[in-house]
Order: sequence, then structure tokens, then C-alpha cells
Amino acid sequence: MDAFIIRSTDSTSVSEIPKKKAKLNIRRQYHEDYLNIGFSWSGNVDDPRPGCLVCGEKLSNESMVPSKLKRHFSTKHSHLADKDSYFQCLLESETRQSKKMTKMVTISDKTQEASYLVAELVAKQMKPHTIAEKLILPACCEILKALFGEEAEKEVLKIPISDNTISRRIEHMSEDIEEQVLQQSRDSPFFSLQLDESTDMSGQAQLLVFIRIVANEDIVENFLCCKTLPETTKGEDIFGIVDHYIKFANLPWDKCIGRSPCGKNVGR
Ligand SMILES: [Zn+2]
Repeated sequence: MDAFIIRSTDSTSVSEIPKKKAKLNIRRQYHEDYLNIGFSWSGNVDDPRPGCLVCGEKLSNESMVPSKLKRHFSTKHSHLADKDSYFQCLLESETRQSKKMTKMVTISDKTQEASYLVAELVAKQMKPHTIAEKLILPACCEILKALFGEEAEKEVLKIPISDNTISRRIEHMSEDIEEQVLQQSRDSPFFSLQLDESTDMSGQAQLLVFIRIVANEDIVENFLCCKTLPETTKGEDIFGIVDHYIKFANLPWDKCIGRSPCGKNVGR
């Protein structure tokens, strides 16, 4: 059995550096023999922490010395003395599990991202949400199966792409865009509004509101909101709807400016 060792994290030998600095820089390193008393390590290579494979307790780097690790072992797990192979099995099982977890997280992150990308395409093309499940996914499966085999098809089937999921993703993205536009608008020293009215497919009147702001020393125009108008649309109704939204968005009316017929900027 090799002797337990303590190494400095940099190449400078301990004797070459001032005593105080040496004390700060030294991090106790893990030694493979610590496995015989049930200890593995985790964390940064430069600052490893001993972790008990039996109870999962993580100790500080200062405890990475045989005396402290042995104390933990003898007070808590003495019944496991001389079971070296048992600790080896525990370590292998822990490594397998952590690899599995990392793989699951990576795949799950990628499938989530793919799901958002598909939702964005559906929204931009203004297609029904069901198209993802009914056409896009089966088409992807056929293409991947033909080009890369059934394994690739199995991977693509993990992407959450149902009607409800696509609808939820589009809602999340539009809420995020709305918050970004509102934040930019709040940061702008002034803003101006432009209103438009349109009728949708069902014959319902819709009010479209555009906002013009100053962002990054430039004048930027953004779509602000779209609200359904009541059947009889008076100026008062329109103002009520816009006023309600501006207050909801926390935009101060005194920052709203317009251009009067004589060409002079006026506040509202
Ligand atoms: Zn323990």
C-alpha cells in the first residue's frame, strides 16, 4: 500500500513559497487507498472533497486525511471493515448512476430545445398546432429512419411535440417576447403609440397597438399588443382598452409623446 500523500495544487514546491501562502494554497488530494475505508471524492480537482460511499456524507477538504476519514468510518460504518470489494462495487454503481443521470439531463435538455424550435416554426408559419404531431414528427421519423436507421428514429420520438405542448411553448415564447418589449419600453425615455384596427377570420374587430421607443440610441418600432374590440367601438372604448394595457404594462403615460398637427412634440 502506498503512503498517503499531500500535494500542492501548483508546480511550485512548498518550500519555495512563503509559509502563509503555502498554507493557503495546499489542498489535500484524494488517494485511491481511501476507497478501502469507503471514501470517494467529488468537486473540483484543485479542491477535492471526500465523500462517504456508504452514507453519502460530504466532508471538507481539510478532512481529507486518513485519521479523520478513519474516524468517520469506525464511528459510523465499523460493521463494514475489511469489505474492500464492497466499496469498489459501491463506487462503480455510483459512477454508472451519475453517467446515466448526466446522459438523461443532456438528452432531456436537447429534446426540450428541439420542442421549442418546432413550436417557433409552427408559430412563424401560422400553422395549426396539431401539425407538429401529425406531420412534422412523422416526417422527421421517416427521414431519420431512412438515413440513419431506427436508433435515430427512437431519439426523435422523445421530443415532446403534442398539440398542447406546442401551444404551451408558443405561449411561453410570446410571454417572453412581450416582457422583453415591455422592459425595453420602460427603459426608453419616451414612447409613442400607433393604433390600427383589423377584422379577424370570425368577423371580430381587433385592435392592434404598435409602440415606438428609443433603444440603443436608435428609434425602434415594436408590436405591443392585440386586443379584441367590443361590437360598438367608440373612441372611449378604444382608449379604455389601451389605458388598461398601458397601466398593466407599468408604462407611465407621461412618457407618451405624439406629434401635434403643427409639428410640435406634445406630451399626452
Ligand atoms: Zn458514512
